[in-house]
Amino acid sequence: MSTNIKKVAVFTSGGDSPGMNAAIRSVVRTCAYHSLECIAIHRGYQGMIEGDFEAMNARSVKDIINRGGTFLRSARSMEFKTKEGRLKAYNNLKENGIDAIVAIGGDGTFTGAMIFSKEFGIPIIGIPGTIDNDIVGTSHTLGYDTALNTVCDAIDKIRDTASSHDRLFFVEVMGRDVGHIALNAGIGAGAEEILIPEENLGLERLLESLERSRRSGKTSSIVIVAEGDNIGKNVFELKDYVNEHLPFYDVRVSVLGHMQRGGSPTCFDRVLASRMGVKAVESLLDGESNKMVGLLNDKMELTPLEEAIKGHTEINHELLKVSDIMSI
Ligand code: ATP
Repeated sequence: MSTNIKKVAVFTSGGDSPGMNAAIRSVVRTCAYHSLECIAIHRGYQGMIEGDFEAMNARSVKDIINRGGTFLRSARSMEFKTKEGRLKAYNNLKENGIDAIVAIGGDGTFTGAMIFSKEFGIPIIGIPGTIDNDIVGTSHTLGYDTALNTVCDAIDKIRDTASSHDRLFFVEVMGRDVGHIALNAGIGAGAEEILIPEENLGLERLLESLERSRRSGKTSSIVIVAEGDNIGKNVFELKDYVNEHLPFYDVRVSVLGHMQRGGSPTCFDRVLASRMGVKAVESLLDGESNKMVGLLNDKMELTPLEEAIKGHTEINHELLKVSDIMSI
């Protein structure tokens, strides 16, 4: 720990995710532990441009570890994508004596951080806060575990009504580019089929599978559909297609939507957030920059921001097999 960093800023940006408050708390308290000043920036990059800053101490972050969302609020800032906007942001940081930044957000937030750090030489460490789990360099992004539990719980509830009325439910979950939520929550909640962007099951095989389920004595079924699934039809078109081809099913659709982003973080996400906050601040003190903290093999590791956002997370093929076997 050999740098001249005295004042660290923290902000949340892009889509919110459960555990962001716990991460802010951890950054603020780690700063206090190392006798660093800590400044919170409200509303992400837009607040940085407008100088929406607030001094933090260890007590400023009491009673937030259990709260979803982000008390610093988040924003999408078009102005930060311009050189003039970033210069305004930098001038505000300098005026306030800020030497380093912890940025909590997703790939857009990290792209902005890389550009900003390159332009003005300010050290930045990222914390991956997004429910999609689509960032390379961490087995879990912040909020992913909470989202899985929220989705699993919602599917359990839908199953109650599905089995009471002999219904087939298509449940759409978040995941435009990746199917991690669909696959894991689908297995956890016992879904019959799981449609994800990484695989194309095919309409014929979907019908076959549903017919097989029916023949084997199942009277109700749940199919999980990730937003970006590859089958070529959205969830409502799927309902119409199956209605037409399998008239014995009473087919319904449930789109879970933004409730997947909310709620109190799980214990796993609170612990992860606490670890990530400590690692982020201590990495800045070690002279690191332009890197993201992540969980790999149960250890806190650093990955260059560039690799974190450019890489592509792989779907777990073992889980695909497990899902297939379980739906027999
Ligand atoms: P999520 O994955 O949940 O959507 P995110 O961090 O990817 O989160 P974005 O809206 O893509 O969310 O990015 C957050 C903010 O980062 C943007 O509003 C913008 O201010 C900044 N940003 C994104 N891309 C760039 C870029 N190319 N140059 C400068 N700033 C950027």
